[in-house]
Amino acid sequence: MTVLSISGLRAEIASTGTEILRGIDLEVASGEVHAVMGPNGAGKSTLSAVLMGKPGYRVTAGSVTLDGVDMLALPTWERAVAGLHLVMQYPTEVPGVALDDVLTEALKSRGRATEGLNADLSAEAERIGFEERFLHRPLNVDLSGGEKKRNETLQLAVLRPRIAILDELDSGLDIDALRDCSRRVEDLSNDAENPLGVLAITHYNRLLTELRPDHVHILVKGQIVSSGGAELATVLETDGYAAFTGQDDEPAPSGSSLDDLFRI
Ligand code: ADP
Ligand code: MG
Repeated sequence: MTVLSISGLRAEIASTGTEILRGIDLEVASGEVHAVMGPNGAGKSTLSAVLMGKPGYRVTAGSVTLDGVDMLALPTWERAVAGLHLVMQYPTEVPGVALDDVLTEALKSRGRATEGLNADLSAEAERIGFEERFLHRPLNVDLSGGEKKRNETLQLAVLRPRIAILDELDSGLDIDALRDCSRRVEDLSNDAENPLGVLAITHYNRLLTELRPDHVHILVKGQIVSSGGAELATVLETDGYAAFTGQDDEPAPSGSSLDDLFRI
């Protein structure tokens, strides 16, 4: 079993010194699904960026370990090799680099065999509803928002990391893609041999119908202000974040929205 342990994590924007994460404690083990939910600007993407080592942030206190190994001391690629995987809110287009080449290199860097990759890719593409012709095309180039997220989910299923951080897997997704992607992640978390631990960062409850959280944490202004079971997400559905922020929440649109497009 693998455990991602986040303890007293504080982080700021490197260029301005603005503190965004103000003491985060979280533990995610194999097979567990934790949802971190919070209003816009709470620090959700910052948390995912700091866990994965995106440049531009400075950790000022606390620790992040994966089975006792200090992740904060490692460059991003070594964190990935150790078993951490980030599904990005806005997947990057990489002209000139095909998906199957990316995955071949990723498997090699993990010391894993690549012979079965093509068969795995085809099977996963079918399962997630991702068109096979995209497998050999440049990564994410000209894909729709939904296709990009299917692509990200497919990479997760092929690479089989130990812990996956999903930053708003649901943003920009139509209802079919949302169902396919969240169902696939849920299945990975229930895998008998290698159950995935999931840290699902999301603004909306809609991700959590197929992907069933064992634990829900509410992040407000860089701090976890409440933790509980799946029922916490239901409270949010009816009451919004007002109960946790002490302010009226912004209206929660039901589909993808302009707010999705302009969020950092
Ligand atoms: P969320 O994902 O919960 O909406 P973010 O983590 O994206 O929130 O942002 C939290 C706060 O930090 C926001 O005020 C945002 O503007 C700021 N922020 C995040 N990343 C950067 C950055 N690289 N440069 C400047 N400000 C940033
Ligand atoms: Mg965000």
